[in-house]
Amino acid sequence: MEINTKYKVIIRRCETYDANKISGIITEGMDELGVTPTGNIMLKPNVVLAHPEVFPHAFTRKEFLEGAILATQKRAVNNNKITVGERSGITIPTRFCFKNAGYMDVIKRRRVSSCYFDEVRHIPVKLEKKERLRDWLFIPEPVVRTDFLINLPKFKAHPWCRMTLSLKNFIGIQDDRHRLVDHNLFLDRKIVDLQEVIQPHFIAIDAITAGQKMMLTPTPFQMGAIIMGTNSCAVDTVGCHMVNTDPNDVIHLKLASKSGFGPMTLDEIDITGDFPLHEIQEKTRNFQFCMEHIDDYFQPDCNLTCTVGSFPEKHSSDYCWGGCPGALQEAMHIFKSYYPNVLQDIKKIHYVVGKVEGPLDIKEDERVIFAGKCTQWEGTIHGRHVKIDSSYKPPHEVDEKKTRSNDMVKKNLMSILDLFINRKSGYIHLKGCPVSVGDHVHYVSSLGKIGNPNFDRRMFVGVNIAYWQMLFFRMLNKLIH
Ligand code: SF4
Repeated sequence: MEINTKYKVIIRRCETYDANKISGIITEGMDELGVTPTGNIMLKPNVVLAHPEVFPHAFTRKEFLEGAILATQKRAVNNNKITVGERSGITIPTRFCFKNAGYMDVIKRRRVSSCYFDEVRHIPVKLEKKERLRDWLFIPEPVVRTDFLINLPKFKAHPWCRMTLSLKNFIGIQDDRHRLVDHNLFLDRKIVDLQEVIQPHFIAIDAITAGQKMMLTPTPFQMGAIIMGTNSCAVDTVGCHMVNTDPNDVIHLKLASKSGFGPMTLDEIDITGDFPLHEIQEKTRNFQFCMEHIDDYFQPDCNLTCTVGSFPEKHSSDYCWGGCPGALQEAMHIFKSYYPNVLQDIKKIHYVVGKVEGPLDIKEDERVIFAGKCTQWEGTIHGRHVKIDSSYKPPHEVDEKKTRSNDMVKKNLMSILDLFINRKSGYIHLKGCPVSVGDHVHYVSSLGKIGNPNFDRRMFVGVNIAYWQMLFFRMLNKLIH
């Protein structure tokens, strides 16, 4: 961290995904920032989900990764090993996403290693900061043992956090068992906790094609930029300004800065490079976000009606930004990428989240989803008295050492069984905090009588082969260590 001097952030122009060009830009960036990778080096891209046809814009592109590896190899001294590590999202095995992102070829060609965080041991790391949410976090052992971390996020808008840049990319460090803990009203604080485990020594953000609105199915935006720096808060602050966003509106950035992880005003940052901020701001005037409450987002002309109540924590009693509502939005956008008219084609669903008082306007042919542990309601559905009780627990009552596995196949089977048991009921209560995007897909697909993307031929076989490989290598790693 710089002392008595401004944090430096570089914005460079780069219009195309040309690995050699990207390598040149990142090498110059490392040079300007005085960055010398050393020891065990880990590159952490964002590969939350990847598929060339259905999820083409959610991840750091392979050419960007290759450019970063080439630059790292050029600049490294006393280097033992270079590894590319990540944990993909929504319980999809990381090796499936690496393959579909085109990473395997790059990793082989550049003779570096891969590390799938869902296949390695996670160890507890004690947190010390006064503002911490938890005392312990579970982190993949290779991350904890890394000497030099290079963060390679994708520049995207985000329906839970407004933006995902350097700070938010750390969510991909945790495995399924721990990733969803506090991924609710406390998501912003969880992101800050993760910063205490390790800080990136260098950051290069893939903003060549940025993502608008959603994180899994973003709408591409040709931004033509690479952003580099050595401090996540500084880089994220500049990233916010690049899309005309006040950094104060990105809560995890505000909290991270308050906790001493870096600046959040441009006065403290020296911006260099060949792409002036004002020019980018002009270019991104119409950059789109998705920070609408679901009851406004899904319009009255569609077959999905949402009722949003109040939420159990004072700091966010009007909406749960980190949990179920955003997961529903992501799920509906996944459906949209398969079935563009899904909102009109699905059977009627009424989605209820939070504590709701008074009667619900349930249509005759409508089925109700009560989403999440915090949801509470009492009333009549199709002539039957229904009482939904809250089983929400605040963070101090959730033991991170006794979390559920969130195993993909187990979760799929559980939701299929739950749907079968409740097949004749007018409603169903999904008990998660949060209810994951994957579960939303299962339940909406079944109740709405629309195809389930989990069983799409482009995903199903590949994901399931990768799942069994993941289990095998996880077991092998356990035996070796
Ligand atoms: S149950 Fe869902 S909506 Fe309720 S607090 Fe948890 S994540 Fe948020």
